[in-house]
Amino acid sequence: MSAVRVVVGGAVLDRGRLLAARRSAPPELAGRWELPGGKVEDGETPEQALVRELREELGVAVEPLARIPGEWPLKPGLVLQVWTVRLVSGTPRPLQDHDALRWLPPGDEDTVDWLDQDRPAVAEAMTRLVKQ
Ligand code: C5P
Repeated sequence: MSAVRVVVGGAVLDRGRLLAARRSAPPELAGRWELPGGKVEDGETPEQALVRELREELGVAVEPLARIPGEWPLKPGLVLQVWTVRLVSGTPRPLQDHDALRWLPPGDEDTVDWLDQDRPAVAEAMTRLVKQ
């Protein structure tokens, strides 16, 4: 039995807004919105994976800020963990996995159809945005 694999999601906070990304694949997830991220590879820390995934998917440099407490099951052997991150450089563009991006101010988080497993972290990220 291998250990549970972690998927890291980034709650990108910038100028009072949270970044939401719309998945373009696979078909059963396409059109749903998520916190961008992906699987932690062997030998990586979750923070390193976040930096790599957001560079690959969005073309930006980010710095992880803090882990949002909690862990959400995705499917057997895979759990989602989420960090707040700040943009260090670049403007996010949907380079892979996504076909649209939106910056959501507090109060607008329910205007996109989030993946169910992302919702608790989105709610917590929004409260941190308000306190920023
Ligand atoms: O992006 P990637 O395909 O590596 O993601 C692995 C799995 O994690 C997928 O099943 C995806 O739906 C899920 N995921 C998620 N929430 C995120 C990021 C990924 O449920 N914020």
